[in-house]
Amino acid sequence: MKSLKFDNRFIAEMPGDPVIGPGVREVRAAAYSLVRPTPVSAPSLLAWSRETAGLLDLDASDLASPEFAQVFAGNALLPGMQPCAANYGGHQFGHWARQLGDGRAISLGELINRAGQRWELQLKGAGPTPYSRTADGRAVLRSSIREFLCSEAMHHLGVPTTRALSLVGTGDRVVRDMFYDGHPQAEAGAIVCRVAPSFLRFGNFELPASRGELALLRQLADFTIDRDFPEIGGDGEARYAQWFAQVCERTAVMVAHWMRVGFVHGVMNTDNMSILGLTIDYGPYGWIDDYDPDWTPNTTDMQGRRYRFGWQPKIAYWNLNRLAGALSPLFGNPQPLQEGLQRYREAYAGAEQDNIARKLGFAECLDQDIALMEDLQSLLQAGEMDMTIFFRALARIDGDEPSPQPFADAFYDETKRVAVAPLLSAWLQRYRQRLQSDPLDSVARVKRMNAANPRFVLRNYLAQQAIDRAEQGDASGIAELLEVMRRPYEEQPGREAYAARRPEWARDRAGCSMLSCSS
Ligand code: AMP
Ligand code: MG
Repeated sequence: MKSLKFDNRFIAEMPGDPVIGPGVREVRAAAYSLVRPTPVSAPSLLAWSRETAGLLDLDASDLASPEFAQVFAGNALLPGMQPCAANYGGHQFGHWARQLGDGRAISLGELINRAGQRWELQLKGAGPTPYSRTADGRAVLRSSIREFLCSEAMHHLGVPTTRALSLVGTGDRVVRDMFYDGHPQAEAGAIVCRVAPSFLRFGNFELPASRGELALLRQLADFTIDRDFPEIGGDGEARYAQWFAQVCERTAVMVAHWMRVGFVHGVMNTDNMSILGLTIDYGPYGWIDDYDPDWTPNTTDMQGRRYRFGWQPKIAYWNLNRLAGALSPLFGNPQPLQEGLQRYREAYAGAEQDNIARKLGFAECLDQDIALMEDLQSLLQAGEMDMTIFFRALARIDGDEPSPQPFADAFYDETKRVAVAPLLSAWLQRYRQRLQSDPLDSVARVKRMNAANPRFVLRNYLAQQAIDRAEQGDASGIAELLEVMRRPYEEQPGREAYAARRPEWARDRAGCSMLSCSS
């Protein structure tokens, strides 16, 4: 492999744990612990993203070199790498969970590419760290495939996200009790290399604040602004205020994208909220098939459904309130934090209106369009209609004489189709009238809609099919699916099968509609 340039500012500038190596412990007054990945027995490269490799100035010959799989399995380090696990806490399912930290993620270093961009490389599943608590520090193949594919699919959909460089099989088995019901099984292990400008989370700030480690909190805030928000000027409180408002705004934009494409994160704990407003930690996430705002893929969350699709905007806001609480010692009075939270509400409302205008194909969102969209959503839910297929089909209707015909493929239940048919026709009449008063011509409208309503999303069952094949030893389904997900807004003739609604066999199947945190 070619030599790469690393500049590990987090380690150089932030205080670390004086104890080196693994061994579960409480780590106080330190932002990270130095710990090396634990080698695996037989690394094999199963999949990679050429776009993410490109960000790192890596090309096909680097990917093909035997060293690549060794490095990205954690068996070897490149010059300049300094592996560490970050220390953070978090609110999990609404409750403060104290110190969590990178229990199985190990950052390798901050790479500086030829364009001068900084990219942190992180292995997920690279072995125990001081933060592994009772767990093993490893990841299973099925979850690693899901993280690898979804990171890249989200990027191509235009959603802010951490990226994935590689998926390496370890050759080792990992024991997991998938549904925590007393049926542990040995599964294939794997490691994903994730890539982002920073993996800092709300929880990195919450932990020192919770312990009264105010010097560390301030140092981390200063560091983050300096390294990751260089556009922010000013000093003192005004600088922190601008930064917090930025975090609020980015979080709003990210969640609005999730709502646009039908993505359900599944575990929006504050330790899974990126300070950069990136989608991070792909675990029991899922994609909306039939439109249901109450759906969550996460079986661990079935009781309260806290992280259901329709609650994501308000949960993000709740999480930002926890971050505001953690940052409050940096402020003399809470006013700027209140203003930041207000920025979230405004930015989210603006982004939601933008979604409405783009998804429905209007030049802009008028007040009346909010009700038009809400009524449509009720209709989609009552009719058990596929969200992705419906919006894509909506661009194909005849604006002068809309018929429900283009939506035939969107229904999962014939009885419901018949039941909502009159409601759908009535809604289409309202929509037709609205289109007539809109300045966009039909060509511009279709273009606008097809750029906001994907034809292809990483449906849960599609990922599961790639997983089933990979678990039988054939990893080629991963690359095939990634290839489709590279151009989610294009028609891609010949690939209709990847746009099909969820088949019946997948309705209640593990991995398709039911996932747990066990990964
Ligand atoms: P998650 O729900 O995946 O975001 O994880 C919550 C916390 O548990 C984080 O601190 C993770 O690093 C840790 N964790 C999850 N799975 C493992 C594992 N297999 N080994 C060690 N730590 C883990
Ligand atoms: Mg996490």
